[in-house]
Amino acid sequence: MNFHVLTIFPSMFDEAFQEGVVGKALGRGLITLNAHDLRSFAQDHHRSVDDYTFGGGPGMLMSPGPLFAGVEHIKESYEIQDSPVVLLTPQGKTLNQVDIEQFSTKSDLILICGRYEGVDDRVRQELVTHEVSIGDYVLSGGELASMVLIDAVSRLVHGVVGSIESTQDDSFTTGLLQFPQYTRPAEFRGHKVPDILVSGHHSEIAKWRRREALRRTLIRRPDLLDYADLTTEDREFIDSISDETLSI
Ligand code: SAM
Repeated sequence: MNFHVLTIFPSMFDEAFQEGVVGKALGRGLITLNAHDLRSFAQDHHRSVDDYTFGGGPGMLMSPGPLFAGVEHIKESYEIQDSPVVLLTPQGKTLNQVDIEQFSTKSDLILICGRYEGVDDRVRQELVTHEVSIGDYVLSGGELASMVLIDAVSRLVHGVVGSIESTQDDSFTTGLLQFPQYTRPAEFRGHKVPDILVSGHHSEIAKWRRREALRRTLIRRPDLLDYADLTTEDREFIDSISDETLSI
């Protein structure tokens, strides 16, 4: 998986991915991250990447020229003409785990980080294949948003996370929130780990985890249950705890 980022702050990416599983994956060559300085595609000697908005109004807008030149350069240099071109924007589709899984099947992703008041709309119309938001709030730039996408996609690349099973139980991956988890000590400040988890009964533990994932999802994110892959037993369990959760 190769990430190609167009940004006016390429050094932000060096800092962000020095640590953790993504840092290790970069070190091992499982993923690559090329942060391209948008200013190097500017068409004047001031290296301008922004300009005033037509129609007036405060703030500057990212010009189409450097963004088109940058994306065309990346596509030609890496021979990735058909790769997705993702614009990070608060107006895009809110990113979820299904989107992340789909992006993780691609070999290359080109990510455009906006700044200022955003980008000239012709970039969106002509260049971009996916518009992605990381939530209903406005950041000062697309760099942090693209880092979120890079981190989440990288975790699904083979070999990045030590055991692939550990991503399969993750929240959203199963369609549910993940069950509660505990580590040692078995008793901490008077709070004991549920007995079943130290019983060694693997099938009973799996059943408990499924039920607690259902309970947690029902309480916190009942909307997810509309799309989750539920068995008859799951549905019966949800029905049996619905009254209990209504009072929370
Ligand atoms: N004026 C724009 C609007 O109202 O839609 C917001 C521009 S914002 C200050 C600057 C840049 O930050 C955007 O072009 C985008 O790249 C990035 N950005 C801000 N919020 C974001 C979000 N929720 N998700 C993804 N990118 C975001």
